[in-house]
Amino acid sequence: MEFKKQKARIQEIEKILKSQPTQKPDNQQDTIHEQKQTEMKEIKVVKLPYSYSALERFIDAETMKTHYNQHYKGYVKKLNSALDRIKDKEMDLEKIIKGISRYNRTIRNNAGGAYNHQLFWNMLSPKKQRPTGPVYDKIVKKFGSYDNFKKEFAKKSRGQFGSGWAWLVLTKSGDLKVMTTSNQDNPLMGVIKDGGHPLLGLDLWEHAYYLKYKSKRDEYINNFFSVINWSYVNRLFDEKNKTKINESRVAKEIITEGASAGCSPKQVNAYRMIFNRNPQIKKKFMYAIMDILKEVYSEFWYDKNEYAEGQMSGVYDFEQPGRSVINKLNTNYSAFCILSNDISMALKHYGQPSLNFIGQSNTQQLKELSRMLKFMIEYRYRIFNPESATFKEIMASLDKSNRFGDTREIKAVSDMKKIFNTKKVFKVGELGGKDDMLGGVDATVEENGQTKTIQIKPFNNWEEKDDRIIVFGTGNVKPYSTDYMAFQTDKYGTFVFNVDGMEIIDGRFTFPKEGWVNPQ
Ligand code: FE
Repeated sequence: MEFKKQKARIQEIEKILKSQPTQKPDNQQDTIHEQKQTEMKEIKVVKLPYSYSALERFIDAETMKTHYNQHYKGYVKKLNSALDRIKDKEMDLEKIIKGISRYNRTIRNNAGGAYNHQLFWNMLSPKKQRPTGPVYDKIVKKFGSYDNFKKEFAKKSRGQFGSGWAWLVLTKSGDLKVMTTSNQDNPLMGVIKDGGHPLLGLDLWEHAYYLKYKSKRDEYINNFFSVINWSYVNRLFDEKNKTKINESRVAKEIITEGASAGCSPKQVNAYRMIFNRNPQIKKKFMYAIMDILKEVYSEFWYDKNEYAEGQMSGVYDFEQPGRSVINKLNTNYSAFCILSNDISMALKHYGQPSLNFIGQSNTQQLKELSRMLKFMIEYRYRIFNPESATFKEIMASLDKSNRFGDTREIKAVSDMKKIFNTKKVFKVGELGGKDDMLGGVDATVEENGQTKTIQIKPFNNWEEKDDRIIVFGTGNVKPYSTDYMAFQTDKYGTFVFNVDGMEIIDGRFTFPKEGWVNPQ
């Protein structure tokens, strides 16, 4: 029964991940319309990934609503009816665009309109993002500075006479360039001279800005830079980067399209020991993951106090409202295990030895970690893409341990009410709560009018040795500054220790016998 529930939840998460970063727009009818289109094997309307009013600093809700519902949906509708009249046609929008010379003018205009706007919605972000990632690096290299690029992009945009688009394009030779196209043409269309893959685009049609800006097109162009979705732009670059395409094909197949190798409980246990006995591994892994998440999910990343007062830096509102489960990735040995297995698979395809952490010396493990991180960082946009099999596996695993953590804490709190003989034991530190993040506090107990703090951990066994109690299988072994340490398992129930006299010996928590609150 429990397994069925888990499976249902995992499927639910996969669904959420698949629909990322799209969210339901204000208008419910859009959704119904989209579903119909999917069933009928037509070119689909993509969802607006934010509300109509989400980009107010760039464009007003009224324009957004008309732009999306009237103009964009109009292009898709007209494209579908034009395609209806043709035999032997492509139904993949990008392929239609590439091979546009095969089609008539109506299809060129409407396929362009559908494709350009589909890109455009995703290239914009409600959250202000700093320019970042490989595209930013390449821009600085190409234009000398980001400011120079902005000037160039604005200049070309201003120079576009009549309706059209301004683009940042990845050329066939792997270079960047700024260009404009007329009407609804796209740089990817075979008919466009010296085009390429669009990475960034700005709609220069009057319908995109006139209501808010009137004739001040310059202002519209300048404000565009404050709503660029750099996460998306970098993902596009990673997919289309031709200079890397051959070598990365294997990585793409394995990591994005293949199945994840997953991790057996035995392996997970081995990785837990590695994490606990080699703190440097944990630290390096943690920093690498944080850097990656900050870049790849910059639309969901908030620095300290930026999301809300008292909140730590991290990813918010990604797979759930509030602090995201994904933040647990950086200290999670199951996720480390999944990544290591899947990267090993890819490495093997390149004729390199698979990663081998288990049973190695600390130094050797650090060398293996360097190999792993090198690959992980290079393919960050692929591995940490919501569509990747590896990423889905990690999310399912994090979600599972997150929920197990919750039930464990509930059980421990209920046990501790008996152990401390008081009803005043409270669970705190819901995922991402301030207390949990700052002090590792899971629960509190009122003792003689004072609030004492408790950290709750799992364990699977214990042993008494030289008047000390050794606790096995606890995960994340590190010093805690709470007043008590509680360990919970179905087999033994809850053990509570006073933190005074706690020592970490050989990667395990140990306590003096007299500090045991409820000795067996
Ligand atoms: Fe438009």
